[in-house]
Amino acid sequence: MSKKFIAGNWKLNPDTGEQAIELCWQLKIALAPFVKVKIAVCPPSIVLPMIAEFFKGTNVAVGAQDIYWEDAGAFTGEISGPMIKSAGCSHVIIGHSERRQYFGETNQTVHKKINAALRHNLLPIVCVGETLEQRESSVMKDIVREQIVEALSGMQDILLGNLVIAYEPVWAIGTGKTATPEQAQEMHRFIRELLTENFSESLSETTPILYGGSVKADNAAELFSQPDIDGALVGGASLKADSFAAIVKSGEELS
Ligand code: PEP
Repeated sequence: MSKKFIAGNWKLNPDTGEQAIELCWQLKIALAPFVKVKIAVCPPSIVLPMIAEFFKGTNVAVGAQDIYWEDAGAFTGEISGPMIKSAGCSHVIIGHSERRQYFGETNQTVHKKINAALRHNLLPIVCVGETLEQRESSVMKDIVREQIVEALSGMQDILLGNLVIAYEPVWAIGTGKTATPEQAQEMHRFIRELLTENFSESLSETTPILYGGSVKADNAAELFSQPDIDGALVGGASLKADSFAAIVKSGEELS
């Protein structure tokens, strides 16, 4: 896969709509030169319609950070596929480790959310990754296999061309600790083989696999040089236009 994909996860930031628009202006200017990479930002749901409108017709796509699996009904606090689609989004992050850790997300709920995203023509960015304890006990590949196989079970045909996976080791998210390029590459290769074995060769070849976990301007290029790393899901460094643009620039140079 030659075209790198860089997505920013804003998480629960910034505090106000004004600050969000200010960041968008800075991003629009800083990201304008990059035409070879794919770029997306995933702000909090409350500002999605405004930000999708802001980036309409530009090189920046907009995604949600979560989706509920039902389209409507008595589900207080949730946001649905039709809402995300009508807000002007094209992507949605599903199964982020913070949602697994703090909000009870499981491989089964991730599965239902992927179905909901696909029903509404939203590209799911499905997050997987092991905790530090799981890595230290050398079960990280079993964990990632289970996350992927359970989340995608029975979906091989509809997923083709409609799936992005983000490998995000939990111990590297927001900690300043990045997986070494070799550690990340090893897991990305494993994921690619897993897709071939459990789904199809074409799904494996066409699914971008992003790395996430303290990606910064100074480590992006080395990560992106690995053969199975197709881009990054960026948290903290996506909240400053200059640091996000520097990561995107590394992607552009390797696209
Ligand atoms: C993330 O939120 O998906 C993430 C990778 O965060 P950070 O880049 O801050 O580690």
